[in-house]
Amino acid sequence: MMGFEIPDLDAPVVKATNCIIAASPGLFPPPPPEMPCIRCGACAEVCPHELQPFELYWFSRARNFGKTQEYYIFDCIECGCCSYVCPSHIPLVQYFRFAKSEIWAREREKQAADAAKERFELRNARAEREQAEKAERLARAASARTSEKKVAPERPPAVDGPPAAAASEAAATASDAEAIRKAAIAAAMERARAQRESAQPRNTDGLSTGQQREIAAVEARRAVLPATPAGGPGADSVPPAASQRDE
Ligand code: SF4
Ligand code: SF4
Repeated sequence: MMGFEIPDLDAPVVKATNCIIAASPGLFPPPPPEMPCIRCGACAEVCPHELQPFELYWFSRARNFGKTQEYYIFDCIECGCCSYVCPSHIPLVQYFRFAKSEIWAREREKQAADAAKERFELRNARAEREQAEKAERLARAASARTSEKKVAPERPPAVDGPPAAAASEAAATASDAEAIRKAAIAAAMERARAQRESAQPRNTDGLSTGQQREIAAVEARRAVLPATPAGGPGADSVPPAASQRDE
């Protein structure tokens, strides 16, 4: 018998509903246990579409869905005659429904994969086309700039008057900006030097009293020494005559 068991009374009646059977355990007792197929052929004799239900059963059970299609599983109208006459109480139609749903699911997956592949190829083609167009645009702009430079006449030298004043004002603004930039760089370098010095470890920390006293004595002796000349410690050692000869 065709149809599905509806587990809930809230299921709606739709346009495709042909018949409703109010079942009862007396009308539809629990099916007897399924037994192995004995290949008696009774199912094939009653099939209205002259299919081979026992072959379809074997291939569905083995998940060989390609073979089920070779045996025309989609010609099965799920009438249930084969299941009804089967002496082994095999729910053949359930096997056929399972095989059909698996084939449909695989077909949907294949269609989705094909669509994704097509989208990916189209996207790659579009990216390549846009890249080529951009390169072409850039090359065209570069050639236009080159030709403009070739045909542009030489500008006459600037004369006194308002244009010269504007030029001198622009030069002054540029020199001010340069001075500000240099001052900012010098300040940054000074900050970096101070930070570096403060980060360096000092070897006068954590000394004993005796060591500190010794350092203080050295510092006192260094304080009374004359200041080092600007030319460095070796500047005095150069004889004046030699210096004059070098000049
Ligand atoms: S009727 Fe049942 S036991 Fe007989 S061949 Fe078909 S599936 Fe097998
Ligand atoms: S359910 Fe399918 S295979 Fe079985 S008898 Fe009906 S049409 Fe044939």
